[in-house]
Amino acid sequence: MGGTIAGLAASAADSRDYVAAQLLVSDLLAGLTTQASCVLLSEQVAQIDSKDMDLAVWQKLLQRCVHWLAQADVQGLVITHGTDTLEETAFLLQTLLAPRKPVVLTCAMRPANAADADGPRNLRDAVVVAATAGAQGVLAVCAGRVLGAQDVQKVHSSRLDAFSSGEAGDIGRVHQGRVDRQRDWPAPNASQTALLDALLAAPALPRVEILLSHAAACGATVDALADPAVAARHGAPPVRGLVLAGTGGGTVHHELVAALRRAQAAGVRVLRSTRCADGFLQPRPGDEFPVAAGLSPVKARLALMLELLC
Ligand code: ASP
Repeated sequence: MGGTIAGLAASAADSRDYVAAQLLVSDLLAGLTTQASCVLLSEQVAQIDSKDMDLAVWQKLLQRCVHWLAQADVQGLVITHGTDTLEETAFLLQTLLAPRKPVVLTCAMRPANAADADGPRNLRDAVVVAATAGAQGVLAVCAGRVLGAQDVQKVHSSRLDAFSSGEAGDIGRVHQGRVDRQRDWPAPNASQTALLDALLAAPALPRVEILLSHAAACGATVDALADPAVAARHGAPPVRGLVLAGTGGGTVHHELVAALRRAQAAGVRVLRSTRCADGFLQPRPGDEFPVAAGLSPVKARLALMLELLC
């Protein structure tokens, strides 16, 4: 898919100055040494900096995953991907494909030609995980860790070990070519064929925006977002959903509450998550704004967009 793992720096000594998505996946595999006994086939699905991920790329990726997962002799998939939106792709794939085979996203924090590039190890580890008997579900592999699609979140802007599974904990670790598993593999949820078909056929995703609750918040922001006339003036579709990244346990600044009520009354779906990196929100009886249980704001947004698609 591209990303920093396929990126090139102007100088091997300065890995901060680089362009993502330059090398082909075949180039990455050419340098790979793996203990896993498997045959590797590769396909270049996209070549992007994942900060620019969009529906068309996701649709192509989903189609190719469906294709490869259906081959009886395919044990698992490895997807090289940028770190920036890896958690969104992971969540989407797990929700729509719920695979009984492993689909392993891997990445790098340093470009491929950096003196201390981390991509080769991550790719090697990802192949180990994909080749592990019994492995299933959508996973992320980075810095020796195996994280589940539901939990994985990028929590550091530059560290090689950039991801967290939060309170759920990692699925396991890759150590000397073996997986030491600490938790169950992600369970295949119910088949989402109708939703997958709807997404593959969709010309656009329903518009859902993320709003942060913070000190000195201003309700006019919500009114502007929820106003279809504002959207139309910008040639944008109307907002159909708002995900609120609330403070702490999902609390909302009082300045936003009245405006969110107005938005909800006008038919905009409002869903609450938390801006905290760790900890889960649980629904409570009488919640005025429903809670996206256990989902970060970006994953809650995807969940709401999928719900609004049908
Ligand atoms: N901007 C890059 C990307 O997400 C960052 C990375 O891969 O680490 O594609």
